[in-house]
Amino acid sequence: MILRSQKIELTPNNKQSTQMSQHAGYARVAFNFGLSSFKVGLDQDEWRSHVDIKREFNAVKYDKFDWCKDLSQNASKNAIHNLGDAVTRWKKGQNKFPVYKNRSGKCSYQADNGEGTVKVHKKRIELPKIGWIRMREELRYSGEITKVVISKHNDTWYASITMRRLDSSNYKYQPPLFNENPPIGIDVGINTLATCSNGDTYGNPRPLKRYERKLARENRKFARKQKGSQNGYKQKKRLSAVHARIANIREDAHHQATIRIVRKASAIGIETLKITNMLKNRKLAKALSDSALGGFLTKLKYKADRRGIPIDEADRFFASSKTCSNCGHKKADLTLSDRQYHCSECGLDIDRDLNAAKNLCPT
Ligand SMILES: [Zn+2]
Repeated sequence: MILRSQKIELTPNNKQSTQMSQHAGYARVAFNFGLSSFKVGLDQDEWRSHVDIKREFNAVKYDKFDWCKDLSQNASKNAIHNLGDAVTRWKKGQNKFPVYKNRSGKCSYQADNGEGTVKVHKKRIELPKIGWIRMREELRYSGEITKVVISKHNDTWYASITMRRLDSSNYKYQPPLFNENPPIGIDVGINTLATCSNGDTYGNPRPLKRYERKLARENRKFARKQKGSQNGYKQKKRLSAVHARIANIREDAHHQATIRIVRKASAIGIETLKITNMLKNRKLAKALSDSALGGFLTKLKYKADRRGIPIDEADRFFASSKTCSNCGHKKADLTLSDRQYHCSECGLDIDRDLNAAKNLCPT
């Protein structure tokens, strides 16, 4: 059994958008109701399960929250169910004790938990009590829907749909028994996102650099607005839209590069980046956090894992840049500004990043 999730942007009309906000509000109210009930239980040395809390909530909801009768009851049910999971994890020491949700927090609710109430047909999704909403793209996977979470970020609605694939036989990403691709070493960097030992390079869009002036301008405007005012709220939205745009450009570049790499490789060698250490170098910090190399490596790892491609992480003391990929000679005086690698032993003349990538290539 394989679970796959896909997050798709929704394009609701105004009414649907309001309805989704109402459901998210209902989920928040139910969660908070459940949490306070659970706390009361704890004070009385009583462990209230999500079933107990749900029963308690259902008994009073039409009196206390009569507006909820027009909404899907899945929203409250799943909110309390998730609260149950959260306190179980807290009991096991896996996370902190859950906190109350407030209006300014994340706007989301779980519309389906495998009840089969949400339907997807091509580029449309049917949510209970709301109806059919258009989606930006179709589902990539087919199978049984096990979970649907509706959420809003930066004024945009998304549906995160998890599917259970029962037929693993014709699974698109089944790792082949024999992978005839070569092993690939990757040097990740700031100027070039990834340089591969086979000569492929993937550029870094460095979106922050491009949007730096716009970001600064919107930030200044925001600083001038009165805190908590309507105009301040509007400007905050504009500012977060710029941030969202930057994040999207970066994510897209990472997805494109990583998928292309894993399609060409049978094994991957990379360097363990001590990103926190590199961030201490103030000259590098801005450029580094802009390229967000950590996100790149995370995507590379899970995509390789799905295809059964092993990832070899070089020891962080391995001098991938200073070693000659041809003869193994170590050049001690290589500086960051040397873009070309000249070997004094064998005469190799090669691009610095390509040399490092070749050294990282698993054998
Ligand atoms: Zn050499």
